[in-house]
Amino acid sequence: MESLTVPYIKGDGVGPEVTSAMMRVIDAAVAKAYGGPRRIDWMEVPAGGSAYEKYGTYMPDSTVDAFRQYGLGIKGPLMTPVGGGIRSLNVYLRQTLDLYVCLRPVRWFKGVESPVKHPENVDMVVFRENTEDIYAGIEWEAGTPEAQKFYGFLRDEMGVTKVRFPETSAFGVKPVSREGTERLVRAACRYALDHGRPSVTLVHKGNIMKFTEGGFKKWGYELAQREFGDAISSGRLVIKDCICDAFLQNVLLKPEDYSVIATLNLNGDYVSDMLAAQVGGIGISPGANINYDSGLAIFEATHGTAPDIAGKDIVNPCSNLLSGVMLLEHIGWDEAAGLIYDALERSFAEGCATADLARLMPDGRVMGTREFTNHLIGLL
Ligand code: NAD
Repeated sequence: MESLTVPYIKGDGVGPEVTSAMMRVIDAAVAKAYGGPRRIDWMEVPAGGSAYEKYGTYMPDSTVDAFRQYGLGIKGPLMTPVGGGIRSLNVYLRQTLDLYVCLRPVRWFKGVESPVKHPENVDMVVFRENTEDIYAGIEWEAGTPEAQKFYGFLRDEMGVTKVRFPETSAFGVKPVSREGTERLVRAACRYALDHGRPSVTLVHKGNIMKFTEGGFKKWGYELAQREFGDAISSGRLVIKDCICDAFLQNVLLKPEDYSVIATLNLNGDYVSDMLAAQVGGIGISPGANINYDSGLAIFEATHGTAPDIAGKDIVNPCSNLLSGVMLLEHIGWDEAAGLIYDALERSFAEGCATADLARLMPDGRVMGTREFTNHLIGLL
């Protein structure tokens, strides 16, 4: 018997519903694919609102340690604590575990309504840098002594004269490093080669932010040439770049030109959600946060806790489920992953889905979360 322990965070709001659906479908697919010798031992670890009520902390150290110990995990959506302390539980996990890639594959399933004419041409994998950029959280509120002190440093030490309204300005710092860029672009290039994908596009705003985003582009090209020069010269891998605003336009007009995307934190945030919308929205888009050096990977639903629909048996579990499928692929259990892709394709093709998707389908049949989960298990 080959069993694998997977720590999981149930999540807040709709979290318990999507987590239960994900585990049921994955268990059934693993049983079907391997007929018994393989099994996942799910191990719940506390986080979020329920952890706060029980342990007085939103993210107990034992939870972070469990992810470290087992080298992988999966999480449902978590509420964002209001007030001081941790700003965002997701950002906390990414930073504490140095999960430097936010991986977001974006593909379309036949039958799912899309706002674009040819969603079948959208097939991209976004590598978003997770630890740097304006998301580093280095900022000072307008009117505070810290903001004034920072402005004083800019003015007196750095000779900066371009702050338009210094008295009422807030300030943020955008660190972008060569190391941070290189490990992200390296992971994107390796992924492209391992998965037979033709190109990596560096998406940046280097025309305006010349040293940060421009640095990303320059270091990215240099790294690719240095470490993947053979693949580039033999034509197996194309490295190109695109300015982010043009990229957002191009992926609507000619998405087939893009395959693997490597980009900075803020661009990646926008790009991932926009691409997700092209294939059916956040209810169906999976994600993962990965450190490709240590191998540590946490898979996650990309939507929030959806408090407006929590407990109503209507949430779409596909984002969390497809994150679980990414986990299966990560550990090499591709047969089980394939069964779930097939079941989803068949379900959507016959119009069976949760309300968010089914009500947009011409002959859609609305199913509750549990009914849809049972339906998928039946299709495995
Ligand atoms: P949200 O994603 O929870 O909800 C936005 C809208 O989309 C809502 O109308 C919701 O009903 C709908 N929706 C979301 N997921 C759905 C699904 N799977 N099926 C059907 N409908 C779905 O975003 P929000 O309302 O801005 O945030 C709520 C809370 O979640 C906040 O505390 C926020 O900070 C947190 N959040 C967490 C994560 C995460 O843990 N990864 C991500 C985003 C937001």
